[in-house]
Amino acid sequence: MDWRIPLGAIDFDGQEEAAVLDVLRSRWLTMGGVTQAFEQEFAASVGARHAIAVSNATAALHLACLACGLGPGDEVIVPSLSFVATANAVRYVGATPVFADITSEDDLTLSVESIRRCLTPRTRAIIVMHYGGYACDMNSILGMAKEHGLSVIEDAAHADGSSLDGRSLGVWGAVGCYSFFSNKNMTTGEGGMLVTNDDTLAESLRTLRSHGMTSLTWERHKGHAWSYDVTAVGYNFRIDEIRSAIGRVQLAKLDQFNARRAQVVDWYHEYLQELAPALHIPFQSHRGQSCHHIFPVLLPAGSDRPAFMEAMKAQKIQTSIHYPPIHTFGAYKDLFPMDGGLPVTEAVSRREVTLPLYPGLTQDEILFVAQAVQRALHDSAPT
Ligand SMILES: *Cc1c(COP(=O)(O)O)cnc(C)c1O
Repeated sequence: MDWRIPLGAIDFDGQEEAAVLDVLRSRWLTMGGVTQAFEQEFAASVGARHAIAVSNATAALHLACLACGLGPGDEVIVPSLSFVATANAVRYVGATPVFADITSEDDLTLSVESIRRCLTPRTRAIIVMHYGGYACDMNSILGMAKEHGLSVIEDAAHADGSSLDGRSLGVWGAVGCYSFFSNKNMTTGEGGMLVTNDDTLAESLRTLRSHGMTSLTWERHKGHAWSYDVTAVGYNFRIDEIRSAIGRVQLAKLDQFNARRAQVVDWYHEYLQELAPALHIPFQSHRGQSCHHIFPVLLPAGSDRPAFMEAMKAQKIQTSIHYPPIHTFGAYKDLFPMDGGLPVTEAVSRREVTLPLYPGLTQDEILFVAQAVQRALHDSAPT
């Protein structure tokens, strides 16, 4: 499909190309000095003691669950309004995801009250997801976790560059997991990062990332080690130097990218309020500083969403849905039957449409999208 305005667009220039070429010419492709530099720069940017680069955020979530000691018999509270990886990670380690509802049609992050209702004597952890880059109510959630002795893992895949009370999202819980997938605020194609302030967790995450081995090929190449022990049944969840090189350049541009996204969101608010007042826009007021990963809107109740999305497509504007609730998927609904159990998630996810958002969008393009939304609302109005 030849979109006039795609949902997202990658912002690369000669710097990413030069960084990749440098790695190719160095002839060292697997995790080494470039990855170490990327980890140090990322740790500094979010204010974490440790950053551990991995192959993707799904692997990061998997390792976070392992490092927090989650396993069979344990219950982990997760949002259903998230990407499926948030819940899959819990199942990889044999634990049971328990789905909590979101707060409201203004705040699509986990409801503290709903989390409280999900607590049982088996609850061991909560995985929060900062939807769209907007912070969950971390003060309340951490307070509850402390009271009940629970680990908090942050799925910060949407939150590259977000903060709350001046502190980066991803460094509030025990472990934070970021994604550098192609559609995220900074990208390495595929890639992810774990952060933690806990030395023991960091050690465990680092070891599990690479087969449970006590030394890396890189360290042996450098002459720092001759052999190794295997101290755990680990995985190969490593990133590589090419991706880390792209990541370093993207990280340096992240604040600029996010400032441009914030400007685009301001234009959306201005034009949509004028041209499409029937549309509900979540997060108009919100906690903290968002990196504006996506721009979700809610159609009026009873609208024909496929008709809306078709009308946008007819004007060559790409839209998406974030998300079909995880508990309604085929691989989940039989194991976790809870239809009607998450009323806010179910109501919101039926009405949600995501409009294009990326740093390169211009004011004229946002006006064009808003005018298209005005027409598409007409074509999809409740009958
Ligand atoms: C993208 C995403 C992931 C998975 O990230 P990958 O790097 O693609 O594995 C996990 N959770 C959420 C909320 C995401 O948006």
